[in-house]
Amino acid sequence: MNMSANIGKNDEPVTRQTFDDVMVPVFAPASFVPVRGSGLDLWDQNGKHYLDLTGGIAVSGLGHTPPEIVDALVEQAKKLWHVSNYFTNEPVLKLARALADATFAEKVFFCNSGGEANEAAFKLARKWAHDHFGEKKNRIVSCYHSFHGRTLFTVTVGGQSKYTEGFEPLPPRIDHIPFNDIEAARAAIDDDVCAVVVEPVQGEGGILPADPDYLRSLRRLCNEKNALLVFDEIQCGMGRTGTLFAYMGYGVVPDIMTSAKALGNGFPIAAMLTTSEIARSFSVGSHGTTYGGNPLAAAVACKVFETINRPEFLQRVVEAGEKLKFSLERVAADYPDVFSGVRGKGLMLGLVMSGKYQGRAKEITAAAEKQGLLLLLAGYDVIRYVPALVVSDEHIEQGEALLRKAIDSWLEEN
Ligand SMILES: *Cc1c(COP(=O)(O)O)cnc(C)c1O
Repeated sequence: MNMSANIGKNDEPVTRQTFDDVMVPVFAPASFVPVRGSGLDLWDQNGKHYLDLTGGIAVSGLGHTPPEIVDALVEQAKKLWHVSNYFTNEPVLKLARALADATFAEKVFFCNSGGEANEAAFKLARKWAHDHFGEKKNRIVSCYHSFHGRTLFTVTVGGQSKYTEGFEPLPPRIDHIPFNDIEAARAAIDDDVCAVVVEPVQGEGGILPADPDYLRSLRRLCNEKNALLVFDEIQCGMGRTGTLFAYMGYGVVPDIMTSAKALGNGFPIAAMLTTSEIARSFSVGSHGTTYGGNPLAAAVACKVFETINRPEFLQRVVEAGEKLKFSLERVAADYPDVFSGVRGKGLMLGLVMSGKYQGRAKEITAAAEKQGLLLLLAGYDVIRYVPALVVSDEHIEQGEALLRKAIDSWLEEN
């Protein structure tokens, strides 16, 4: 801290270096600083252009600064931002109504991030089991390689020990099973289980879709053992897989579902959805939030939801997903040494590194960045494609051309 600095005066230019100087080092951001975006176009401080196929990690479903969402934000910003939960507000009521009308859910709880939505879901599952079956029914079963957030509870439910190491003691009675392994699920889900938590398509864990049979089996096992089935649709929901929520494509209905990421197109908002019967286990004061469901976030999400929840929009996601998949498959086929294949669902796809280049996906995304193409990783072996849902055929073609250039230049150096 610089005590002699002029308070309120802050005209020093900020650069990428400033991040290392003053930010807690939990991230390693790219070498440039984006300053402006439109659709899938992004520009940095130097005016350099990038084709952004990261979708802000499956958040900017409608791309950067979509005019109709900007309008909704500005309009609400002039009316009412925040009133606290001593009051309700029109945008949040409209949003809850829209979500309930469109899904299995009858009740919605709003908060500000995916982690918070899952925290609410896991607390509700524990409370529900406690209310109906007593305190011994409290075990949570989740999958290895899953990701559910960074609060201590949600990170422990997540199946990646690298994220919990050093943070012990962890919340107890949370067990992990291999994803897509029905026998392991059968062995793990007993009468003491209150909730089984799963991402219908694992995101951070490597873009792995659940087998339809697996989700059906989890549903059946939960019914048999009186456990709640919780779907974390924070990444795979909101149109990403070609249906409004992924569970609809699978035809397996959860008891609790969480949504976040694309729900606000980058304006922080998240939701936990459930039935009236289960929601009754939360009563006034048993859970809460200061910002959750504030009018500004809700107005934005209302417009986002209205835009995505249209048959034409979702049909285009399916079509764009197929085109992107073909494009990535062509690349994989032309570089059989580098890639082993493509997997995923809708516009949630992973280009998987081959054994020869195991652990080196990051080198390709770095080479792509040099070409002006922004891509994401899921682990060390998967290049993750979760672009804006409004990605055009031209974007897909440009993306393929830039990716090929990046691979060629990288291969030359290796
Ligand atoms: C991103 C993500 C979360 C966490 O969301 P935050 O908003 O970062 O708290 C949880 N679950 C899944 C599946 C996610 O992709």
